[in-house]
Amino acid sequence: MIQALLEYQTVDAKLKAIETRLSASEDRKKAMVAKKFLESVNESVEKLDAKAAELTQSYKDLALRQNELLESVSEYDTVAETCGEDEVEYVHKKAKELEDRIVSMAKELKTLEETIENIVAQYNTLKKKTVEAQKQYRECGAKYNELKASVQEEREEITKKLAAMEKTVDPALMAKYQAKRNDKVSFPIVLECTENRCPACGMEFSLQEVNKLKTNKIDECENCRKLIFVK
Ligand SMILES: [Zn+2]
Repeated sequence: MIQALLEYQTVDAKLKAIETRLSASEDRKKAMVAKKFLESVNESVEKLDAKAAELTQSYKDLALRQNELLESVSEYDTVAETCGEDEVEYVHKKAKELEDRIVSMAKELKTLEETIENIVAQYNTLKKKTVEAQKQYRECGAKYNELKASVQEEREEITKKLAAMEKTVDPALMAKYQAKRNDKVSFPIVLECTENRCPACGMEFSLQEVNKLKTNKIDECENCRKLIFVK
């Protein structure tokens, strides 16, 4: 019963080797990194656009207020020329307060300007990176597709062979095997028990486990999850 599965596993290992080669491909990894970047870039651009719009509005508002204050200062100057001596000190004091406020506003405007420049720089970097990612996705994607095409025929042959072999294996056993394979248990998935130990991880089975194995003929190693059988 187990023999058919072992033969199936030998052929399946070849398919697994092809799958591993494909998934380990550097070009595939690079293409995926580029794809991920390109998928996220729109969101980043939208965030930058929103931030830039908000800052530009703040800049305009502040510049407008500064202008209004400048006009008020010149009004105070006019008043200072015409008012009496007792009032002049108060008017000058007020004008000075306004001037101080204008100076601090100028600093705020400068900071805003720098922040906007920084956003523009980020935006330009993003644009450059997008062009690079598009190129990487195109080139590495093409190379990976070439690799995939080069193993396609062999892959189809093995798959066909496996489909034929599958019929010779006990369905319940096959289901167990496939579950392990889908669970990414490494090859070989099925091994023969040696001296009451798991030949894959070396764990010693308890007497109870050995008895269970002898009854069921096949069981799972609790440590490495591989399928262990006895003849
Ligand atoms: Zn084990």
